[in-house]
Amino acid sequence: SNGKGRSEVGATKFSFEQIGGQERAKEELVEALDFLVKREQIAKLGIRPLKGILLAGPPGTGKTLLAKAAAHYTDSVYLAASGSEFVEMYVGVGAGRIRDLFKEARTKAKKAGKSSAVIFIDEIEVIGGKRDGGQHREYDQTLNQLLTEMDGIHANESPRILMIAATNRKEMLDSALLRPGRFDRHIVVDLPDKKGRLHILNIHAANKPIDESVNLERLAEQTYSFSGAQLESVMNEAAIYALREEHPVITERHLTMAIDKVMLGEKTDRETTK
Ligand code: ATP
Repeated sequence: SNGKGRSEVGATKFSFEQIGGQERAKEELVEALDFLVKREQIAKLGIRPLKGILLAGPPGTGKTLLAKAAAHYTDSVYLAASGSEFVEMYVGVGAGRIRDLFKEARTKAKKAGKSSAVIFIDEIEVIGGKRDGGQHREYDQTLNQLLTEMDGIHANESPRILMIAATNRKEMLDSALLRPGRFDRHIVVDLPDKKGRLHILNIHAANKPIDESVNLERLAEQTYSFSGAQLESVMNEAAIYALREEHPVITERHLTMAIDKVMLGEKTDRETTK
């Protein structure tokens, strides 16, 4: 979630190896992406082209990271937007932005000499929420435009567009979005289990000086129900505690304080910690 304003455009160097845990999600995603990579085989078998992948799961679990890695894996340009960017007071503005986003994706890919573009839309439920009797005309137009653009994606066009959307409210999505030929591949991106948490902690510990006595495995046990984003925060906050004490390495104590801080912070300043 990035609030308003286009978050990112361009190539991405982010790969699946930098994502901790989420083994199943990664596997399912790679399998889906191979549809894009192995285009000729897919065409020969007469398989319907993949247009949209939905990543569903709680905040901070790595959905954005997965979308970036997907762009990297398929050698695509990457464009990211958030559902809230398309919410405007005036009818038609949101729809226009959707049109521009697809246009931009095609232009950017051509310029970069890439044969595909990944468009990532976070918080898709903001524009793709269930329609309730035409009350929200503006939302309807924006959603309709997105559906039109997706229907206009062709398997053999170049550059080829792949849509990836993320939500933590899958049950809120309008069924029109989930129909075949739209976001018809759903991948669950859940909170990490202990093994996943250890993997994530290791990734975020890699660039930090950590005391030899620190047991990351125990830390993974103590952080039950933490998301990847929270685990990243734990490592970062621990480093800040070490700095404050002018301690050259991060100790178990810094990490314990950091866990408390992240747990408390989630309750008090949810928005500002991100
Ligand atoms: P949101 O729904 O809030 O947009 P998200 O699922 O898209 O969240 P990301 O933006 O991908 O979450 O993750 C936020 C940050 O948390 C990442 O930049 C990374 O530092 C850390 N993180 C989250 N999940 C993982 C993971 N599986 N492995 C490593 N780091 C992770």
